[in-house]
Amino acid sequence: MEVDHSRRSLMAPKISLLPHLISSGIDRKNSSNRIVINVGGARYETYKTTLKNIPDTRLSWLTNTSGPNSDYDPVTGEYFFDRHPGVFNMILNYYRTGKLHSPTDVCGPLFEEELAFWGIDEKQIEPCCWSNYRAHRDAQVTLAEYDGERRKDKRGNVKQEYTYL
Ligand SMILES: [Zn+2]
Repeated sequence: MEVDHSRRSLMAPKISLLPHLISSGIDRKNSSNRIVINVGGARYETYKTTLKNIPDTRLSWLTNTSGPNSDYDPVTGEYFFDRHPGVFNMILNYYRTGKLHSPTDVCGPLFEEELAFWGIDEKQIEPCCWSNYRAHRDAQVTLAEYDGERRKDKRGNVKQEYTYL
């Protein structure tokens, strides 16, 4: 089998760690398609075409090369965001696979905040992770109802309010 050496030489060795991305066509192998994103000190490499998979989000905007971007560091060649690196794994996986799963090692409100920062709609969360993600809201409602009942007993009114954990 012939290997296109001229193209191969443009590729950094690290690319071999991402075989699932290489199968997507010649255009994706172009080094100008590569992008490095540093999230809270953890370095992630991906393709601009991958980030374009979910349009109208903060990451897809990085691929618009027109104009300066304050998140870009020309010295390191990286985009830097001081956000939760573990959660970002799941965010980036969403761009790669089109499926959004919530991490099991962080609580719902934290994931909710990160989704808001990256501009991703929580409704995109897969059914397998949805009830787990929603659990914190159900707990808040239960607590608010309990709190409301208690207030009614004491003060004779039905003031209902949400209590955040
Ligand atoms: Zn899931």
